[in-house]
Amino acid sequence: MKITDVECHILLVPEVDKDATSSAQDDIVVLIHTDEGITGIGETDVSPQIAKAAIETPGTHTMGLGLKEMLLGENPLEPQRLWEKLYTGSAMNGRRGAVICAMGALDMALWDICGKAAGKPCWQLMGEARPDPITPYASLQPTGRSFEEYRDSLVAWAVRAKEFGFTAGKMEVTLSGPYHHSGLNEPDERMTEVVAACRAAVGPEFVMMVDVQYTWDDVDVALRTLNDWREFDIYFVETPLQIDNLEGYARLHHEAPMPIAAGEWQNTRFEFADLMDIGLVDVAQPDVGRVGGLTEALRVCQMAAERNRRIVPHCWKTGIGIAASAHLAAVTPHCPYIEFLPARLCDSLLRKELVEDELQIEGGVLPLPKKPGLGIELNAAALGRFKVS
Ligand SMILES: [Mg+2]
Repeated sequence: MKITDVECHILLVPEVDKDATSSAQDDIVVLIHTDEGITGIGETDVSPQIAKAAIETPGTHTMGLGLKEMLLGENPLEPQRLWEKLYTGSAMNGRRGAVICAMGALDMALWDICGKAAGKPCWQLMGEARPDPITPYASLQPTGRSFEEYRDSLVAWAVRAKEFGFTAGKMEVTLSGPYHHSGLNEPDERMTEVVAACRAAVGPEFVMMVDVQYTWDDVDVALRTLNDWREFDIYFVETPLQIDNLEGYARLHHEAPMPIAAGEWQNTRFEFADLMDIGLVDVAQPDVGRVGGLTEALRVCQMAAERNRRIVPHCWKTGIGIAASAHLAAVTPHCPYIEFLPARLCDSLLRKELVEDELQIEGGVLPLPKKPGLGIELNAAALGRFKVS
């Protein structure tokens, strides 16, 4: 089989709000076509314009090649070999950052082709099935312009997620810092107020994670608040510090009363090695697109197993990335949860409409995917409607 074309579609929701914290407002969808009529689908969570340029830009020298030109004519059934080819051939532009994110979308599409060609779900080509079903957690982002609206909206989301059948949920509690919500700037004690209100609303059995989105720039300041959360039984706190402060992460691993999670932005196994070996994070959160695709995500899962860490993949795009996360989790027994927000509970029209026939929660869990490839279909009308270039 040979790759005959690579198509990039840049999608945007109709009213993009640059002040919103959600990256689910845009997308790049890549389609890899083959001479046998099989097409693979992938996406990634980075500026779609930058990713498209990384794919389509023609190369000017041997270490600065375009990703598309390196794939044309290649055998799509060898994703691991092609990963190394793309990584090396783009090294002076890539190695980290947006080029790796773009490679992630392409690698996802290659695995989709592999599964479709074999007539098997991708996970069956990737490893042994986990013994238990995949458990999704709901990622909950509040709305509102005042502290009270924010707190009450998050509590309402948490209750709705529990009623929907979720046994776990992640509360976005970001009242200050680079990701602060809608102009809010509140003292740290108010974060504790929000966490306490959520715990009271969902009861003691519900697994509660908290994402503070890089809010603190000082470990001691972070610990003052995190120590107050001991009583709330937090499953993990996500990205408490600026992400390059790995020594700070290591201190939190030793001193905070709950596990520390990070990894949503990280590219490649090399950044995860730093995160786990220097930052000592307890829970690694690869985003399949951003880390460099399923090929690289599988390597990160292997590294986490060797270091006795948990994997809880990040996913904030559409049903394409969610499917990739589910296939990854299917062969990763040390992955207790995946980030999964059902379209019905999501604000983003892209998330709601782009993918047809996606995985459904049954009794709080996700059955292992059964259809060939990633097992998803794009809604062609939605693709046309959201496409801007
Ligand atoms: Mg996060």
